[in-house]
Order: sequence, then C-alpha cells, then structure tokens
Amino acid sequence: MGGWEQNFVKESFDTNWVAPLGPNVDGFEQDICSYTGIKAAGVFTSGTASIHLALILLGVKAGDEVLCQSFTFSASANPITYLGAKPVFIDSEPDTWNMDHELLETAIKERIKNSSSESLPKAIIAVHLYGMPAKMDRILEVANRYGIPVVEDAAEALGSHINRKMCGSFGKLNVLSFNGNKIITTSGGGALLSEDEALISKARFLATQARDAAPHYQHSYIGYNYRMSNVLAGIGRGQMMVLPDRVAQRRANFDFYRDQLESFYGITFLDEPDGYFSNRWLTTILVDSIKTKGITREDIRLSLEAENIESRPLWKPMHMQPIFNDAPAYLNGVSEKLFENGLCLPSGSNLTRDDLNRVVTVIKHLLSV
Ligand SMILES: *Cc1c(COP(=O)(O)O)cnc(C)c1O
Repeated sequence: MGGWEQNFVKESFDTNWVAPLGPNVDGFEQDICSYTGIKAAGVFTSGTASIHLALILLGVKAGDEVLCQSFTFSASANPITYLGAKPVFIDSEPDTWNMDHELLETAIKERIKNSSSESLPKAIIAVHLYGMPAKMDRILEVANRYGIPVVEDAAEALGSHINRKMCGSFGKLNVLSFNGNKIITTSGGGALLSEDEALISKARFLATQARDAAPHYQHSYIGYNYRMSNVLAGIGRGQMMVLPDRVAQRRANFDFYRDQLESFYGITFLDEPDGYFSNRWLTTILVDSIKTKGITREDIRLSLEAENIESRPLWKPMHMQPIFNDAPAYLNGVSEKLFENGLCLPSGSNLTRDDLNRVVTVIKHLLSV
C-alpha cells in the first residue's frame, strides 16, 4: 500500500458509502481514464469478470469461436467457455512474446473456410504478458481487415505503453486487473475500458443485475453481480497515486537483474522493441542450457527454492493445458520454448536491494561452478 488508501476507505465509512457504488467508484473510474487516456472505464469485481462482460458486450454466444493468445494466464480464456463459446489459440512472436499477427491471419482465414456458414470468429483477445506490450498495430491491422473486434487483456500491463499510447487504450474493450499480485491492487478487482461510453454504461448495467428502469424489480436481460465495492475502489484511488512509483520500482528490479546476470552466457532478458515501454511487472529470464553448460531453468528454480526463494516457470501455454486439449491452436513453437526455458524471478515492488542480492547470489553461484 502507498499510504493514501486508508483516507479514501475511511471516507467511505464516514459517509456510509459501503456499497457497490459511490464516490470512490466514480473517482477510481475517472483516475483510470485520466491515466490511460481512454474515454470510459467501469470497475468490477475482477479482471476475469471484466473479460466476461467484454465478451457478452461483443455478442459472443454459445458455439462462437474466439481467438485468444495461447501464451497467457488461464483467466484470459476461461470467460470464453463461460459463454459456451470455443477458444482458438494463437501462438506468440519472439519480439514481445505476445500474439503473432501472421498466425492470427492464418487462423482467421482457416476458421472462415472451416465454418459451415463462413462465419467469422467473434473476437480477438490479445494479451500484454508480463507487462510487455503486444504488437498492437499489426494485430489491429489484421483484425480491422476482417472486422473482428479486439479485446486487450492488459491485466499485467497497467503503466506500459507504445509510443506513449497506454496499454488498455488500443482495443474496442480493454481489461485491467487489480488482483493482489498485480502492479497495483484493490485486493481483488478489475476494470473494463473503452472509447465507447455506451458500451461501458451497458457493462455497468449488466454488472448490477441488469435492472430495468422500473419502480419494481424487472429484468429484460440476464444480469451479473460484478460491480466493485466503494470500499475497494477507495483502495484503488490511493493505489493510483503510487502507480508511477510502482512502475519505476518494477523497472528498477529488471535493471538490477539484467545488470547482474546478463554477462552470463546463456541467460537472456526480453528487450523492449523501439518505442515500447514495459512496466516490467515481472522480470523474466530465458535459460539456454546448451550455453550454460547444462544448467536449466529448473536447476535455477530449485536452487532458489532451496534458499526459500520462490520463482516460477513462465506461464504454461493454453494449448498445452489439459482443460483446453480439444481447442484448435495455431502454433509456431515459440510459446512452448518459452515455457520450457523461461523463469519469472521475484519481482515485487517492495523488494529491497538485499533481497535482490540474495536472489542473484544464488543464480551466480549456480552458473559459476
Ligand atoms: C490476472 C490476470 C487476469 C485476471 O484478472 P483477475 O483480476 O485476477 O481476475 C487475466 N489475464 C491475465 C493475463 C492476468 O494476468
């Protein structure tokens, strides 16, 4: 926490706004708009709920196909299945580790050809994994050519940008997460962002049980209980005040690790392409075990674990997950290789220089023997 959160939370108690609406909800939504430069934002109970709402707003129905980045966390894809729709997974390109636009186009062409009615996939879910922006210009170019709306999953990328255009402002509907592990948090929460204010109004309506304008309870749509509490939105307003610091802290972690480790043959870091700015939510490394004389990412992970330091392999791609066994996937080997050789290092905003030194000491020791 940054220090200001309790003032906003206290205000919600003092004014008795302990409900899924109130001044903190409005204020947090405005803060998100000014920070990202987007026109409209709605805050909800989670990033997952926000993706679910996005897909509903785009008219995704049972049997539809939705194209989704394979190299991501499962919450990007799960809401597709909530609607009875079918995920089609797209592999990554090596520069950003995010959706490969060429494979995306191949997939679109083939899905159109394969479908009985030549129908289009209903949406594209592109992810900025670990905070690195996806190649949005290329992805949008393909998407626009076929008229398929893009949902940006910016859950890990608040504060990242491409030539100063913020992640969360590229797609038709874009998602943030304020889960406990993200760069800023409300303990749990998410947001849906759009240039189209009407879409966000509709999201708020669906998220508060879809109550028609009537004195009695009347419903013409199936609703959800997805609105963020005014108490938690107070935490969010406080967190927005320290977001620039958090981005700086995460990037400093990355710089430290790179400084200390990049001279080791076989250890590489993901560079930012020209004009790309990553919040470096997590610092990740790739380990080439041929160059490290046999030391694998798993050896590094286990040595850290032996010192009571948690690290984690890069996310296991969705097309390799048991639950998505049957889903079509367009692959080039990139995400499978990342999963095999990649490791997320401890990356919290509150790591001290001593903490970081402990981590690199273990890795250096292993690589030097
Ligand atoms: C965290 C995360 C989500 C889900 O957000 P929640 O707020 O935890 O529901 C979705 N996509 C990605 C890429 C994430 O990292």
